[in-house]
Amino acid sequence: MAKDKVTQEYGSLLFTDAVMQERLPKPTYKELRQVIDDGAPLDLDIANEVAHAMKEWALEKGATHFAHWFQPLTGITSEKHDSFLTPIDDGTILMSFSGKELVQGEPDASSFPNGGLRATFEARGYTAWDPTSPVFIKDEVLCIPTAFISYNGDALDKKTPLLRSQVALETQAKRVLKLFGREPKRVVTTIGPEQEYFLIKEEDYEKRPDLIYCGRTLFGCEPVKGQELEEHYFGAIRPTVNDFMKEVDDELWKLGIPVKTKHNEVAPCQHELAPIFEQGSTAIDDNLLTMEKLKLLATHHGLACLEHEKPFEYVNGSGKHNNWSIAADGKNLLEPGAVPSENLQFLVFLAALVAAVDEHADLLRMSVASAGNDHRLGANEAPPAIISVFLGDELHEIVEALINKEEPEVHEAERMDLGVPALPDVLRDTTDRNRTSPFAFTGNKFEFRMCGSQQNLSDPNVVLNTAMAEQCDRFATKLEGKTGDEFTNLALRWVRHTLRDHHRVIFEGNGYSAEWEEEAERRGLPNLKSTPDTLSCITSPETVAFYGKYHVLNEAELHARYVSKAEQYAKLINIEANTMIYMARHLYLPALFEYSGDLASSVATKAEIGIESPVEKELVRTLTDGISAIHEATADLEANNTAARGVEDPLEQCFSYKDNVLPSMDHLRECVDAMEKVCGEDYWPVPTYNQMLFWV
Ligand code: ADP
Ligand code: MG
Repeated sequence: MAKDKVTQEYGSLLFTDAVMQERLPKPTYKELRQVIDDGAPLDLDIANEVAHAMKEWALEKGATHFAHWFQPLTGITSEKHDSFLTPIDDGTILMSFSGKELVQGEPDASSFPNGGLRATFEARGYTAWDPTSPVFIKDEVLCIPTAFISYNGDALDKKTPLLRSQVALETQAKRVLKLFGREPKRVVTTIGPEQEYFLIKEEDYEKRPDLIYCGRTLFGCEPVKGQELEEHYFGAIRPTVNDFMKEVDDELWKLGIPVKTKHNEVAPCQHELAPIFEQGSTAIDDNLLTMEKLKLLATHHGLACLEHEKPFEYVNGSGKHNNWSIAADGKNLLEPGAVPSENLQFLVFLAALVAAVDEHADLLRMSVASAGNDHRLGANEAPPAIISVFLGDELHEIVEALINKEEPEVHEAERMDLGVPALPDVLRDTTDRNRTSPFAFTGNKFEFRMCGSQQNLSDPNVVLNTAMAEQCDRFATKLEGKTGDEFTNLALRWVRHTLRDHHRVIFEGNGYSAEWEEEAERRGLPNLKSTPDTLSCITSPETVAFYGKYHVLNEAELHARYVSKAEQYAKLINIEANTMIYMARHLYLPALFEYSGDLASSVATKAEIGIESPVEKELVRTLTDGISAIHEATADLEANNTAARGVEDPLEQCFSYKDNVLPSMDHLRECVDAMEKVCGEDYWPVPTYNQMLFWV
């Protein structure tokens, strides 16, 4: 898009505040703003007027349908399209859209994962408009962001708890800020998600059932070249990819998604896209739209976009860094202040976050656990499965000094600086030199690096927001009623004690090293290596009390999430196992029969004219042994998979998949990959890693 066009078209498919102002009668606009900003109840007359304005706007933009757009527990987005069309008596039609249609929908909810929250006799769930997320147009459909809840109000989606956790954090953070003499109108979280993905040729993708069904390769021997030359990261972007990226930019800008940075990533064919940060739930909506557009637009360029956490063995997988901060009326609370009193406020939020992460490390780890991400975490390319916080040299020094310092007598301004008067200036220059930390302070925000590339970021942010709300609550409860020097002294003491009590979670060293794993164990930090290991914390009494206190998730909702997460893990691995069995029997074995058969015929033909062919003969033997090994490994996988499928208890079932099915899958892969190494390329039934990763 040309420069002037970008400014013209940016947000043109978004029902922005400016559009609302322009198209709604003033009193209606005012009431709607109250609904959006203050959570005021929505009157049906207002809803009717808003719906009408939205429809007129959408029709002008060429839309014919509307859809409630929501985020069921699968994590991806769902939508059902209804046209505006309404037949009238004289045989003609009207294009209509009512307030009721805007605010509430009733999708046939029984087909979404619900972890048992809705018994089938009461299958009704409904979608409710989330007026804090702007309405947008996608493929000629007016999309209305909604929450998805059951008939009795239980959350059936990823978004509802996110919105609740944002409210909890806002409420508690305001109490803290009030003690510092600040009364902001809004306190929100800010999120900037960095999205990684792979691009391969669509024609290769179409030939790989594993990519089609599972999003990752389940077979494939090591390519002749990997990422060892370190030439891809930030390398020149090839023209086809560049064209694709340009189209992505254009489409996302029209939707008002502020994408800013794009570059090649470490692995061959791997890329990254990052927007400028936005308010939390908006950033997550926009990331979901971004993922959808990446996949869709790739096909316009003969490409397939892979968003799985580990599409290829032997090269890096993909993550999604969750850059996170809190802002009060636009002012970043994790920005070290320019004056001492702001430093103290900064230190309170910093200490709160360190404590929040330490106390809920298990939930945070659980929130990013999935069958896909299990291939990354702890695999020396992504942070380990142990949660720790990295502060950077300067801040770390300050924290250590704070912890070890005697109780300071705070009378003058300088003393509040803890003898580190340059705090803001040094910190402003802080660059993050530790890429191995899962949770790193990067100058004025924290970067949570464990998230998987295809995951909906709501889950980790629900944990972060609620855990932070809890710490703010504790601080405020302790300090309310205190003023002046007494407040300053007690606040500082709270910071010091909190940091001291949670010192164990701070780690500045190499997170990929084996020593860290041992050290972490000594410190008593949880090391939850796989998804099944993380599941039981979802429904523990501590979790139920924690989320219950801040009205984020009730016990029934937590139980549903537990069941649904376990089910999803088991189902995914079941599909992977089925795909492997299918590919082994229908693609690899027939190819090997053919190649070994051709070779054997050649050996026999040569023997007829008296020529010995020991090399071919040996190869026929190797192939024949390989065929037997594949046959046995397939049968073994099938048996283990059938056994796992039969396990009733969700947690036991997950462990059965992890402990029995995954090793069988690895074994079958080894058998097939060994044959790929000796099989003629023309015979091999699917594109190889060499072909897929180094396309031109
Ligand atoms: P990196 O070195 O990790 O690439 P960048 O400075 O480019 O870091 O930022 C990465 C992401 O962090 C971007 O999406 C950016 O908008 C986001 N970000 C910056 N400041 C904040 C903030 N205060 N809150 C949340 N995200 C932020
Ligand atoms: Mg980053």
